[in-house]
Amino acid sequence: MHRLTLIPGDGIGPEISNAVTKIIKAAGVEIDWDIQPAGADVAETEGSPLPERVIASIKKNKVALKAPVTTPIGKGFRSVNVALRKELDLYANIRPCKNIKGIKTPFENVDLIVFRENTEDLYAGIERQIDENSAESIKIITRSASERIFEYAFQYAVKNNRKTLHAVTKANICKLTDGLFLECGRNVAKKYPQIEFKEILVDNLCMQLVQHPSVFDVLVLPNLYGDIVSDLTAGLIGGLGVAQGANIGTDCAVFEPVHGSAPDIKGQNKANPTALLLCAINMLRYIGEKEKAQRIENALMKVLETGKCITADLGGNATTTEFTDEVIKNL
Ligand code: ATP
Repeated sequence: MHRLTLIPGDGIGPEISNAVTKIIKAAGVEIDWDIQPAGADVAETEGSPLPERVIASIKKNKVALKAPVTTPIGKGFRSVNVALRKELDLYANIRPCKNIKGIKTPFENVDLIVFRENTEDLYAGIERQIDENSAESIKIITRSASERIFEYAFQYAVKNNRKTLHAVTKANICKLTDGLFLECGRNVAKKYPQIEFKEILVDNLCMQLVQHPSVFDVLVLPNLYGDIVSDLTAGLIGGLGVAQGANIGTDCAVFEPVHGSAPDIKGQNKANPTALLLCAINMLRYIGEKEKAQRIENALMKVLETGKCITADLGGNATTTEFTDEVIKNL
């Protein structure tokens, strides 16, 4: 029996968490979920959207599955997602992006992986109102954080037979900050001559990704560009409903999809649980449940490939519940 933390999130979070835990249970994986709510509702009752109990639970269990938690735009509390990554020092945000059979997209042979530095950059949240008409935000880039994300990405590339790694920056404009990030990439690259190291500016990358994404392999980006580019790459393979992610630190790992809480479809039984399910599959492999992870993945891929019972974001008309039951049927 594994004891793992589950953050059900808000918006579509509880619906997709329900779907995923149901599928995992049906596959026979024994998990004792330590359920830890977080977000706006929790802020009202407990005074903080990310109470200490959530952090303590993940520190104890080491592994968490996390559905999205809404971040208020403009005003309100700091992002729970960002705070969690910072508190647990989950420095590597890994977002694989590979075509899925049965999901029609304009591109074939997309198989790339985004490594997003997860702890600093403009997401450090150091912002200040200067006066009524101006505000500033500080972009922090450090050698230690930059080196460790490159180190992680290069090690991954070697282990997984990847060929090329692009360092993505805007170092021509942000000469000191992105310049330092790039310098760290160049330095770490020297230790991995078997991987071809390339440099690209983020604007040029965006253009090339929507023209010929199959040439890209491993991308390493500072936090902000990584966030934006990984939504773009999600679009290349069928959208946010199928884009998985993981946040890895030295001690803990939190598996969470790329997408947000999708308040526009909340409570309508319309959400696609695929992204969270792919995160869970990755998590099961991480905790050693390789055979059951494969079983769930096979069932999921069969449902997506058949295309008869898929959710609206993928062009189908199945509800979250129908899709979930179909995956279970195919286990
Ligand atoms: P955040 O800033 O919190 O990452 P976001 O602005 O990227 O959030 P999302 O909440 O991810 O926004 O939603 C973007 C769009 O994608 C919305 O129209 C939403 O309905 C859709 N979407 C996101 N996730 C899913 C999903 N799992 N199933 C179906 N549609 C989804």
